[in-house]
Amino acid sequence: MCGDGILMEEFITQQEITKQYDIAAALKGETAGKRACVITFGCQQNEHDSQRIAGALQLCGYELTDDSSLADMIIINTCAIREHAEVRALSEAGQFKGRKQQNRSIKIGVCGCMAQQAHRREQIYKSYPYVDFIFGTDMHHRLPEIVQTVLNSKKRVSFITDKPHNEFGVISEGMPVCRDSKYKAWVPVMYGCNNFCTYCVVPYARGHERSRNSADVLAEVKGLVEQGYKDITLLGQNVNSYNGGCDFATLLTQCASFDGEYRMRFMTSHPKDASSALIDAIAQNEKIAKHFHLPVQSGSNRILKLMNRKYTREQYLEKAFEIKQKNPDISLTTDIIIGFPTETDEDFADTMSLVKQVGFDMIYTFIYSPRVGTVAAKMEGQIPKEVSNQRFKALSDMENDLAQELNYKFIGKKMRVLSDGISKNGTYCGRCTQNKIVNFDKPIPAGEFADVLIETVGSYQLNGKII
Ligand code: SF4
Repeated sequence: MCGDGILMEEFITQQEITKQYDIAAALKGETAGKRACVITFGCQQNEHDSQRIAGALQLCGYELTDDSSLADMIIINTCAIREHAEVRALSEAGQFKGRKQQNRSIKIGVCGCMAQQAHRREQIYKSYPYVDFIFGTDMHHRLPEIVQTVLNSKKRVSFITDKPHNEFGVISEGMPVCRDSKYKAWVPVMYGCNNFCTYCVVPYARGHERSRNSADVLAEVKGLVEQGYKDITLLGQNVNSYNGGCDFATLLTQCASFDGEYRMRFMTSHPKDASSALIDAIAQNEKIAKHFHLPVQSGSNRILKLMNRKYTREQYLEKAFEIKQKNPDISLTTDIIIGFPTETDEDFADTMSLVKQVGFDMIYTFIYSPRVGTVAAKMEGQIPKEVSNQRFKALSDMENDLAQELNYKFIGKKMRVLSDGISKNGTYCGRCTQNKIVNFDKPIPAGEFADVLIETVGSYQLNGKII
């Protein structure tokens, strides 16, 4: 055992990591002058995975590019959480058909949650013959070996663990990460999920929960703070069940204990596991951002039960009120699924009333789409698209008004903002501790803090002057 409850077998051995470094070093002659591009779909976990993939490609000697038309090696990191994400990833893969016909030496790979699904792999093999290789969500540490095999093989290559979900899943430390920001960083603390919500593919695609050792997480965060990172997010599908030698509230507090001005965030919490200790930690430590993302998914107890969420509307409300009572200025955000099988007008009304009762700063609303292999996909009573669309609009309209009302309290307040430089719209902007977008009047270099006096607000942004 290594720390409380961590099995050594869950960790990739140092010997294996050294082997991958050796393969990468040997590849450098072959990859000199070549470029690689990683295209990412999906959640923050996928974004971080792509940074690991990019780090490994760099280690193998590739120069990284964002322009796939210049790349000799293209890897598409896919997401399977919703149908829309899958369609987009497949259409991206389809774009490379012509390119591959013009230049057979280009290598195209697909990885991520879609690659973990047998029916999608079959589809890619049959309909996308120009995809050269596929690898799974637990294979990132083997990228040098994968690249070596791909470059030396005339056949298509697959690196997938076909073990049952409760067996696969490993933790690797020591492989490089190529971060795309000099001041914002993701740090995974755990992988996988044990919850089996009936609509979700994550436990099947990413395996059972396993936590990184707290010492490794702390060393990474300390290193990032020393390098000047200002906004660090601890990542996991359900960070509250972190079990890498201490509980999550302790880990977060320790991560927020280093010298210097920076913010610690976390993503995501399951309401059944969000502890009072975590809520207290947010209230007591200035470096822990005042933002809590607590996905509720539905306000109806009947639907929550069908979703296998393991909490009731009443328990969720209790938790939400505890968060707000202990942290009066906190931003509380959530996810809601509209049109879950059998959702009635009454169920939806329960969701609307919960939203009003809580007062969320932002809702990420999704229309339910059945995912192959999940329990909900086989349920009767799938909801027609038009009904879901109407409910989606009703919820969005109400939330826009509620969010704006919540923002009025910030008018006249001084907010500490971490600048993101210039936005796509040409405005100067950044994020406050609540993770709200703040627009301001003067240029502040990206990655620097500034104080902004808030003058006006919208539903999802605050506007003010630098003071
Ligand atoms: S908690 Fe539920 S929704 Fe979240 S990843 Fe796990 S199974 Fe999916």
